[in-house]
Amino acid sequence: MLDATQEQSDPGHVMTVLGPVAPMALGAVLMHEHLLCDLTPPANRGRAAEDVEITLETAFDVAYRPGAHRGNHRLSDVGLATREAALLCRAGGGALVEVTTGGLSPDPAGLAAIARATGLHVVMGAGFYTEPYLDPDTLSQSVEQLADTIIAQLTRGAGDAAIRCGIIGEIGCSWPLTPFERRSLQAGAWAQRATGAAITVHPGRDVLAPHEILDVFEAAGADVGRVVIDHMDRTCLDVAEVIALARRGCVVEYDFFGIETSNYWFGVVDLPNDWMRIRAIARLFDAGLGEQVAVSHDICTRSRLQGMGGHGYGHLLRNVIPLMRDRGFGQSEIDTLFRDTPRRLLTLPGDAEASTTHEGEDA
Ligand SMILES: [Zn+2]
Repeated sequence: MLDATQEQSDPGHVMTVLGPVAPMALGAVLMHEHLLCDLTPPANRGRAAEDVEITLETAFDVAYRPGAHRGNHRLSDVGLATREAALLCRAGGGALVEVTTGGLSPDPAGLAAIARATGLHVVMGAGFYTEPYLDPDTLSQSVEQLADTIIAQLTRGAGDAAIRCGIIGEIGCSWPLTPFERRSLQAGAWAQRATGAAITVHPGRDVLAPHEILDVFEAAGADVGRVVIDHMDRTCLDVAEVIALARRGCVVEYDFFGIETSNYWFGVVDLPNDWMRIRAIARLFDAGLGEQVAVSHDICTRSRLQGMGGHGYGHLLRNVIPLMRDRGFGQSEIDTLFRDTPRRLLTLPGDAEASTTHEGEDA
């Protein structure tokens, strides 16, 4: 443990795939994205069929029914992801939180290559996605075993490479929670207590799901102030529900920015569009909860990439910030959403070992 003098002099650090960086170095941050991942539903994997080709003729339909086109949910091309990340940098982005967890084919070395090629700070997520994506061996593990894996990903490195995670999640949850998913959340809480890392959680598709998750975290001794509940856009459609959730102390995340469609491919949900998200966030600021809001796009399909005719990772910076200004947001609200809250969440406590590892690789 650090004494009070050290705590004052050490502002902590953010752990990226290229090593620790100073929190102030991040710039504008996207809190929930995927650069390299495979969200193809397990039942559809390995089928002998052609991947969809995105052309001007198919682009709308692939974007409208993203799950109905083979290969659209697979982001495995490091060159393509690097070009998309470079477009984010050109739009003013400084950092991206890559929340591809176990079950979704995380690629730490690929993320490090993207960060090295573009200068984008990439923070990688530790832990496990929802039960249907995981193998029987993982599903049989105890809380202790799962926590050991998450802590190792945060402190030693993920996979074979010594590339460290900087956040826990997205932890995948169904509604109601499966026994494995409950252990996965408890393991996340234990790993948070050991490392100080923030946790980001993909809740099941029910308005009660985030509350069940917070109950598990509270019982496991997690710091709920460092928990982000993702996907408000399809989980809590009434802003009063989002306000009630934020009043429990967590961060609430609108992370479907750029999705402006009436067709939700995982069921019947009246998805908001971007101005409705902005209006909901304004209500949270009015309620004094503006420091508990995160924003992102959650890109996990090819059809949303700029090179494939989609909005790309720069959409919030290029297009949504001007919409926010039109609706009365000032620079201070915009800084809260894109800089201050992400920095608070991603900053890990001062740690001499961590802050000397890989020093100098983060230019
Ligand atoms: Zn998710």
